[in-house]
Parts: sequence; structure tokens; C-alpha cells
Amino acid sequence: MEDGCLFCKIVSGKAPGHVIMEDEKHMAFLDAFPLVEAQSVVIPKKHFPGYAFDMPTGDLLELMAFVQKVAKRIDSKLGSERCMQVFQGYAIDHVHTKLFPVMQVKEKVVSEDNYRKLSSIFKQNWYSGFIVSMSGKEREKENKLQELEDRIKS
Ligand SMILES: [Zn+2]
Repeated sequence: MEDGCLFCKIVSGKAPGHVIMEDEKHMAFLDAFPLVEAQSVVIPKKHFPGYAFDMPTGDLLELMAFVQKVAKRIDSKLGSERCMQVFQGYAIDHVHTKLFPVMQVKEKVVSEDNYRKLSSIFKQNWYSGFIVSMSGKEREKENKLQELEDRIKS
């Protein structure tokens, strides 16, 4: 338990949480500030700093196995088509991932309207709190792709 960590407090029962599933090492609870119905937060009970990919691999894999169970439970109980998942970890520095149940895809995901709405966050080198799952509208320049490939592989 980390002093002042909200998620550690939820694990210990010192802060309220609508827990939907848990096992010995993990807990899933409803996000109190959801963007979509039944948006859920899944955490390891042990405090790890917020960047999930700094976790020991075994702990991360165990977390993912639990996340899969939570997602399938939400799908089965609420009728979501699927759950999308994001690791962010900036607001609360305790590894957590968010599940976003998709009840229905109402419009074509890659639509002109969606591109227009999201154009302000495309191709930014800073993180504004948004991610999008659709591809960008324009193909990246070949030399930029090559530069990135070279940097990542070096
Ligand atoms: Zn914590």
C-alpha cells in the first residue's frame, strides 16, 4: 500500500469502489467518472507505479489474464459487443487499465465526420488525454516511416 494512492485505498477498503470482480491479486471496479456505461478500471492489488510496461512481465501477464475475464464477464452480463482497453496511468500513479464496453457501433467508425471531429488531435506529438483507435486519414511519408523504423531498431 502506497500512502495517498486512491487505488490502494480502494483495495484496502478505505475508499469506496463498486467492485465488479476480484481475485487474490487483482480488482476490477466501475469507473466513477465514466464516458461510456460500465466503463471499468482493472488494477493489480499490489501498488506498481503507473506505467504498465514497467511492470515485471509475469505480473503484467497475470493482470492481462484477469482483464480478459473481466471483459468477457461485462460482455456476457451487459451484452456489450466487445470491450476496448487502454493503459494510461497518468492521473493515478498505480498501474491500471480501463475497459470501455462497446454496446453498439452506430456509425461507420472511419467516417468523414469522425475525422473532422478528431482532426485537432491527429498527428500531435503530445498527449492530450485522448486516443483514437482508427487509422489516420493520410498515409505517413515513406521517409518518416523509415526514420522511425531505424530509430526503433537501432
Ligand atoms: Zn496504489
